[in-house]
Amino acid sequence: MYFELRRITDTISIVDDHAHVGITQAVNELGAYIKPLLPASDVYLPPIQSSFGFPYLEALHEEAYVNYYGFIPEDLNQASQYKKLAVAYEAKRCDLKQTFNDFMKMGNVEHVISNLFLPEALKDEANISLIPMIDPLMYPFGDYFVTDRPMAKPYVLSFGYILSEIKKTYGVCDDPDFDTYMAMVDRVLDDYKLKGYKGYKIISAYVRSLYFEKPSETGNKLYEAARSGDANAYRAFQDFIVWKVMEKSAQNGMPVQLHTALIDGHIDVTNPINLSNFLKDETTYQAKIVLLHAGYPMFDNAKLMAMASKPLTVNNVYIDISGRVMFANDPTIIAKMLRNFLEVPALWKKILYGSDTLLGERFLFTCAKTGRRAVYLALAGMIDDGIVTEPVAVQIAKDILRNNAIRLYELPLEIL
Ligand SMILES: [Zn+2]
Repeated sequence: MYFELRRITDTISIVDDHAHVGITQAVNELGAYIKPLLPASDVYLPPIQSSFGFPYLEALHEEAYVNYYGFIPEDLNQASQYKKLAVAYEAKRCDLKQTFNDFMKMGNVEHVISNLFLPEALKDEANISLIPMIDPLMYPFGDYFVTDRPMAKPYVLSFGYILSEIKKTYGVCDDPDFDTYMAMVDRVLDDYKLKGYKGYKIISAYVRSLYFEKPSETGNKLYEAARSGDANAYRAFQDFIVWKVMEKSAQNGMPVQLHTALIDGHIDVTNPINLSNFLKDETTYQAKIVLLHAGYPMFDNAKLMAMASKPLTVNNVYIDISGRVMFANDPTIIAKMLRNFLEVPALWKKILYGSDTLLGERFLFTCAKTGRRAVYLALAGMIDDGIVTEPVAVQIAKDILRNNAIRLYELPLEIL
């Protein structure tokens, strides 16, 4: 046991760089058009079903249910008790502000960066930042190009609804010309920064590949062809918008979070290497790219992207370890993945702790516990092997669990 490393990983105030706190409530408030973006709702889920087959996680969820909700351990996995538990759970969930803040405290999480939308109840909380998605800007002509992936169509319809709201806000008509449309895109991206949002989210891997080719035609040409039903031009126009976003990121420093975890049989679409085009081009090389969920399970490709810098420098690709990496995993397994990353010192300042809290605020707590333990185990192994000293390991732990996110997202919090 390395006592100082253990003390720091157990007690440091965490910054969680990717979550969707209160998303069930937010989606309910926004209405039926947005519903497809959330695959399930936050309802009582027995520990055994929250644990993805890992006893470690089952014990953590049990701890949350017993200590916070006051449930009796014997009831938790008893089908006959589910109805009663669901009612009590729902009552707590509705007091979202309290539940959220209680689990932040239980996990010792100082700040969380939430994704997509926030519910009214959490909009003014000082310990939450927001990263909205920019995907709606990519699909101005609806879903006609969409082929066979089941989530694609509902997602694009949701994006269409959000885009129509954006157009209303910016006084843009339903069917604008290219210049008007792009002026709006530009303002939206600038305003997200002015409003204090911490980045741009791209969730489009549910719809299409993350391979965005550098446009060979002008945006205007692509826009007009896409508008008249040319599916290839439409895809190229989406590429064009993402290149704009990456150029913007390179200029204004806003990180771009992209979902890069496996979704379905279309294995190639989420491969982090798809994004390497942005590292080959001067206009986008400086873009701050955050690989959400570390490319799960293509971790080596996430590592490769984060290492692919110009000689003797570091690039701006970051690895977030939220999602199934964190909430559906055992710390010993996460530690192995981390160890693979940490054997490259250039990555020490690029790994970002995240929970991807989605279906219940207790995940803020269960993931914090899991993440702390995983970071300890990974670094203890490196001390054992004589690769780093304990003081160096302590600093890496602080960076992963807190400092790297503060620096990347420019949060007004103390670096420890
Ligand atoms: Zn997420």
